[in-house]
Amino acid sequence: MSEVKMETLVSLCKRRGIIFPGSDLYNGLQGTFDYGPIGVELKNNVKKAWWRSVVYERDDIEGLDAAILMHQRIWLASGHVEGFTDPLVDCKVCKKRFRADHVEEKDFHKFRVLIQKEGDDWEDTGKTLYAESKKSAKAQLTSGVFAIPQEKHIRVEPVEGDVFHGKRCPECGGELTEPRQFNLMFKTFIGPVEDEAALVYLRPETAQGIFVNFTNIMDTMRRKIPFGIAQIGKSFRNEITPRNFIFRTREFEQMEIEFFCKPGTDEEWYEYWVNERFNWYLRFGIRKENLRTRSHEKQELAHYARACKDVEYNFPIGWSELEGIANRTDFDLKQHQKFSGKDLTYFDEETRTRYIPYVIEPSGGVDRAMLAFLTDAYREEIVRDRPRVYLALHPFLAPVKAAVFPLLTNRPELVAIAKKLTADLKKEFYTVYDDTAAIGKLYRRQDEIGTPFCMTVDVETLSDQAVTIRERDTMEQERIALDKVASRLHEKFKL
Ligand code: ATP
Repeated sequence: MSEVKMETLVSLCKRRGIIFPGSDLYNGLQGTFDYGPIGVELKNNVKKAWWRSVVYERDDIEGLDAAILMHQRIWLASGHVEGFTDPLVDCKVCKKRFRADHVEEKDFHKFRVLIQKEGDDWEDTGKTLYAESKKSAKAQLTSGVFAIPQEKHIRVEPVEGDVFHGKRCPECGGELTEPRQFNLMFKTFIGPVEDEAALVYLRPETAQGIFVNFTNIMDTMRRKIPFGIAQIGKSFRNEITPRNFIFRTREFEQMEIEFFCKPGTDEEWYEYWVNERFNWYLRFGIRKENLRTRSHEKQELAHYARACKDVEYNFPIGWSELEGIANRTDFDLKQHQKFSGKDLTYFDEETRTRYIPYVIEPSGGVDRAMLAFLTDAYREEIVRDRPRVYLALHPFLAPVKAAVFPLLTNRPELVAIAKKLTADLKKEFYTVYDDTAAIGKLYRRQDEIGTPFCMTVDVETLSDQAVTIRERDTMEQERIALDKVASRLHEKFKL
């Protein structure tokens, strides 16, 4: 588990305008988050870093931005109407809902519940409960699940030898219902009549938009296999238990590539992409010890996948999926050929044969990537007896690239120089001017959002035409000529 606590990140994100709870003014809407002025920059930079690596730096991938609303038959063809489900269980006692595969099997001990009336002996209530320990049994009593008045003295007593191994409610130990399959797709309607024919789904993955554009892109861009299509966009899943901040939400963004290759070369491409995607996170600053890959067991595989490997990150909630790389075979294109009646085969000029390409899919979440980058970058240290928090983000990802402060706000000449420097730098990268607090506080603000460089204009600037530049991680300061600042920063931001 990461040393950084989730609460620490949540509070930093709220305090510094990175991420707010969705619909905050109305006390929130579960499973949604809003990205604030700093968060939207970080998010855009994560997407830019990905697009740059997979589209601009390569010559075998094209970009796409397909519609979120798609023909309902697409989801019949893809198998999502039938199979995109999670097993849902309800607690019979506290009525809370869980994803059955997220509830751990554990040993639960049976406890009887005893009450003591004023001055009387202990009396068995006839009620029992299951809990992992006496402490959690007591907690259940006070959680309000048991209708035992608070003024009574209550205690629990283990029933010797009665241990249940299995799944019970993680919140109250109550018995769970049998799992029911719950489809995760959000539904809505096109046009004024809300009937079956008008039904559309909000896409639960961006992938299908790519599959249905396979021939459009191949033909217009004159592509030959192997080649890929990349897309970034919103996806929606009616998650049973959205939780863990932006790790699992109901509305999120995905960065997906469908890489089309010749059957038989798929395993090689699969390994290639696992490697590529793993290294992408390292390139943008994730520390190697916090990243690993994990192959899916057979029973874990999605309905379309032959093999799948997750890139996992050591999140504050422990090791969890950051991105999945799946071998989707020819499943999707075959299905769309069948459901659309259109030919989706590829003519291989070399072998003079037709085939449906195989597909390797690296599928990552923008929000999860952000959470990983934030977790990995979070640093706390003591400087001159005071705590300092900073985000050691890769400069490419940093929301604000540079900040400029005048040391004295009552000197208009200094303010003017600082504003002019800000305006000049703004032409090249996102730069902010700030004079709303003492210098120490201004540094702290920028450290906490990961701004790599801060420049201070002081009285000496008037004579030496130079400013002090301070580097975020080392806090080292250097004097640099005003007309050299832009080129110096350029050098630092080079990828
Ligand atoms: P899980 O089993 O955890 O529900 P999944 O394996 O179904 O997830 P994929 O379908 O492989 O997830 O989705 C690809 C990527 O999209 C994930 O690796 C993750 O980064 C992102 N993602 C999926 N669901 C969510 C969500 N609810 N919130 C945020 N990101 C998500």
